[in-house]
Amino acid sequence: MRAKSPEAKLLNPGPRVQHRRRLPPPSAPPLAQIRRRRAGPCRIWPPRPHPTPPQGSRAPARRISRGSRRPPAASKAPGRRRSLRSRRSPGSRLPPDSVRPPPSCRVHEPEVIRDKAAMHAWSRRRRVEGKVVALVPTMGFLHEGHLSLVSAAVAASAGPVAVVVSIYVNPSQFAPTEDLATYPSDFASDLRKLAATGVVAAVFCPPDLYVRGSADRPSAAGVSGGAVSCLEDAGGHAHETWVQVEQLEKGLCGSSRPVFFRGVATVVAKLFNIVEPDVAVFGKKDYQQWCLICRMVRDLDFAIQIVGSEIVREADGLAMSSRNVNLSEEDREKALSISRSLVDARTAALSGSNHSQHIKDQIVQTLAEAGGQVDYVEIVEQERLVPVERIDRPCVICVAAWFGKVRLIDNIEIQSTSSDKYNSVVCLSAES
Ligand code: AMP
Repeated sequence: MRAKSPEAKLLNPGPRVQHRRRLPPPSAPPLAQIRRRRAGPCRIWPPRPHPTPPQGSRAPARRISRGSRRPPAASKAPGRRRSLRSRRSPGSRLPPDSVRPPPSCRVHEPEVIRDKAAMHAWSRRRRVEGKVVALVPTMGFLHEGHLSLVSAAVAASAGPVAVVVSIYVNPSQFAPTEDLATYPSDFASDLRKLAATGVVAAVFCPPDLYVRGSADRPSAAGVSGGAVSCLEDAGGHAHETWVQVEQLEKGLCGSSRPVFFRGVATVVAKLFNIVEPDVAVFGKKDYQQWCLICRMVRDLDFAIQIVGSEIVREADGLAMSSRNVNLSEEDREKALSISRSLVDARTAALSGSNHSQHIKDQIVQTLAEAGGQVDYVEIVEQERLVPVERIDRPCVICVAAWFGKVRLIDNIEIQSTSSDKYNSVVCLSAES
């Protein structure tokens, strides 16, 4: 058990995530009653604070209502931002150990679905039953960070919810030089973890999501001089339709991973078409990815509420990641410099030292001294992800660094001093 450092406490103010498989108490109150008691110490369906937004700020959270295909905020307030806010501090966890679904949402073993058409049909049946379909896309090798997204999916849906977790290691987001071959997986363990939550209705794990071509045909990406992913590299280019979020995919991770976001946006669009969810949950651990998906949903009119869920960390501050398993003990220790430097940076920014360059230099120095190889350290505006010279508006500090053979990313949100208490934008799909 690692000691909890002060910065880890700041990053992890909440309790450890635990997903218990408890049966409902025999006298579990009906959902309506549970909701009425939200202000009280109810641990079955915990209070989800809806802060009174400061004047001129965006509207508080709205929940998807049962049976509704379109999120209410989108359908009732066209042109308005569909933003949900909570009072959680940056880097804090959701409290999934206390999020217990109402009995109507509880399922036993998730149904394992491998076929696209079967998944589509399953989802439609759930909707006919009046359930909100909530999708949690993952690449598997699940940890508590992923499981917190499952809790967030349940929490975001007001009525009966059918949670689908997809597990698919998407080849089109990996360049041939990247770690597709060594990406960890353990399907049996993933299934056990999802079953233990008691709320996952289906696991979608397709063997492949792309139509493959023959290896003797040239790659369209190669021919046009564009970057090639593992998908094209592995044999022909039968699949040739891509979703690109042109500005947001540039910069940050997009600079060093040129095919990454094209692959992510494309596979998420495919998953959205297959599962047709009402809600989809993404972790803010992959901040750029979350922003990009919100933008794609807005631009392509997907009627899906995107929920951004807080980063879940180990007790010592390291952001949970499937790739952490590939860190040596020594590199893991060094990698703690990421969260440490982010917390220090945020503290400095909030106490008035708001020159981005100065803060970035400090982070680079801390990471380098710890033995990391910095890919980037950037301070950008939230939502638009454009670099800022001064931290005088809601920003996020994003870091990517190599420790040994593992590339880790992390980030911390900072509001300007006056608005920091309203940190944690839970959903953005707004115009910018
Ligand atoms: P991955 O399996 O790494 O593709 O991640 C699947 C989803 O889980 C993405 O939306 C990630 O942002 C999210 N995720 C991964 N790690 C964490 C974490 N430590 N905390 C919260 N969400 C996470």
